[in-house]
Amino acid sequence: MGVTPVLVTGGAGFIGSNFVHSLVSAGQQVVTLDALTYAGNRANLSELDNNPNHIFVEGSIVDRTLIDELLLKFRPHAIVNFAAESHVDRSIDGPSDFIQCNIVGVFVLLEAALAYFKGEAAPPDFRFLHVSTDEVYGSIVDGAFVETSPYDPSSPYAASKAAGDHLVRAWGATYDLPVLITNCSNNYGPYQFPEKLIPLMITKALREEPLPVYGNGQQERDWIHVEDHCRAIERVLRTSTPGKTYLLGAGRPQKNLDVVHHICAILDTLKPRQTGQPYSDLIEFVQDRPGHDLRYAVDPSKIKNELDWRPEIEFEEGLRRTVIWYLEHLEWIESAGSEYRGERLGRTH
Ligand code: NAD
Repeated sequence: MGVTPVLVTGGAGFIGSNFVHSLVSAGQQVVTLDALTYAGNRANLSELDNNPNHIFVEGSIVDRTLIDELLLKFRPHAIVNFAAESHVDRSIDGPSDFIQCNIVGVFVLLEAALAYFKGEAAPPDFRFLHVSTDEVYGSIVDGAFVETSPYDPSSPYAASKAAGDHLVRAWGATYDLPVLITNCSNNYGPYQFPEKLIPLMITKALREEPLPVYGNGQQERDWIHVEDHCRAIERVLRTSTPGKTYLLGAGRPQKNLDVVHHICAILDTLKPRQTGQPYSDLIEFVQDRPGHDLRYAVDPSKIKNELDWRPEIEFEEGLRRTVIWYLEHLEWIESAGSEYRGERLGRTH
């Protein structure tokens, strides 16, 4: 726990808001900066509105003047960057915002962080932790990626994240900025915007709408509960030495179709359909996404061995808790906005 705050960028999104809640509940001061794009939701942090340990600032990581002001005013001991355009389908339809946020935004943040770190105001133990994805490695047929696997991104989203990672590493190697990078597999849990696979299936099932599964549904993802991801980021931030990269995942890739069947089975028990039919009857196979990676798998041995982190939430238990959370937060689904109901997002993961 640092005496000065942590600046969390993108903290009103899915993973960022879970991270902010976790830090603040542990007594850590947090300044959240978020541009509140369609994916950012102020309601994700509304429980912290009267908490003296939390300050919310609406703004973009591309705004250098604002970042400079925040760093000098709050003197954080760490920046944890979650801010991103994060949805693969949107990156295919319109990559421009992805280049702007995931590359230019990271560059602006790095420049601001470097000026701050080299100046008088930064605490000596300052760290810049960049949150990234396993999608930078592309698809893998067998086995699992390790930290030294070559980058081979397929989608504009993954390519923009890869570029951001390279910038972060370069600012560490060239200017001695104390940087850290985490590349995590697919997350699930509370506050995930309902265009992503798991909340999309839950919300569509509750509306009795078709459950769109890409291609044959055989794509494999290594699902990790967002709380396990947040615990790993905290562990890296507090205990790792600058310059390191860690792959994070549960180490258990699963097929998308199996995950959708699992969600249906949980809903069959918790909220049976009025027709008496199983929710799986709503599954519909739709045309596959272009450039769709077949399989992601990461080997999280490095963080296990070096930092003694392990995922604690079993998928079956985590998924059940997640379905219950969505059932209990129907008003949150509404507050997350209406865009996910659009036609383009009707075929999405
Ligand atoms: P998200 O889309 O839910 O949240 C992103 C947040 O960033 C939103 O609150 C948005 O308003 C904000 N934002 C966007 N542009 C901004 C800008 N220019 N300035 C400030 N804020 C801005 O995404 P997420 O799923 O929470 O992902 C967070 C990070 O974790 C991303 O960098 C993503 O690449 C990475 N990641 C996500 C997953 C996953 O499964 N969701 C897995 C591994 C890594």
